[in-house]
Amino acid sequence: MSDSKSSLTRRGLLVSVSGPSGVGKGTVIEKVREQIPDIAHSISVTSRPMRSCETNGVSYYFRTEDEFKQMMARGEILEHDIYLNNYYGTPIKPLIDHIEHGRDVLFDLTVSGSLALKENYPEAVTIFLLPPTLSELRRRLICRGTESMELIERRLLEASVEIPKADLFDYAVINDNVHDAAQRIIAIIEAEKHRYCRQIGIEDRILEG
Ligand code: 5GP
Repeated sequence: MSDSKSSLTRRGLLVSVSGPSGVGKGTVIEKVREQIPDIAHSISVTSRPMRSCETNGVSYYFRTEDEFKQMMARGEILEHDIYLNNYYGTPIKPLIDHIEHGRDVLFDLTVSGSLALKENYPEAVTIFLLPPTLSELRRRLICRGTESMELIERRLLEASVEIPKADLFDYAVINDNVHDAAQRIIAIIEAEKHRYCRQIGIEDRILEG
């Protein structure tokens, strides 16, 4: 057995979660992170204004639109999307750092963001979080009470365009309740970690021990 093979450790896992607005992605991701504290969170750059509950450099790196565009021009953004007139993007440098250190990374991305991540990193695991039905999504958006009926109808229209893209993802998880959806995502992460291709040289390390 070669030294180079035996010295290889498990490769970090890149996991992205996407889903239509109102599906409960943020809450489910929070639950997953609570239960897998070792997983790094890819902190995105955004041009949207910071909310009072957020901290710069923790929730996002908040930048002006000009600063965001300059970062893009310098090639510092892996993928980006525009959501409700604001820019969102994945910075490359911290991601490379995570990968080099073999850390698992969780991404919270728009649908096109997950697909772009997969294009750049085919080994990334993409998860599409779905509502049980479109009418349940409507009910949740209405209950949230943060948007006008007109905006809710627009979100539902967007959702009906996004949901058929589930077939482009590796996994489709229904968020019928937060606990179960988080458990399913945790099970996917656990199973993906055990793929042989992510544990190259495992047999050598065992035989050496
Ligand atoms: P929010 O403004 O509610 O924090 O996020 C709005 C949307 O932007 C969410 O769907 C979130 O997943 C997405 N998002 C956050 N960061 C990124 C990113 O770096 N790239 C892409 N493509 N989408 C992102």
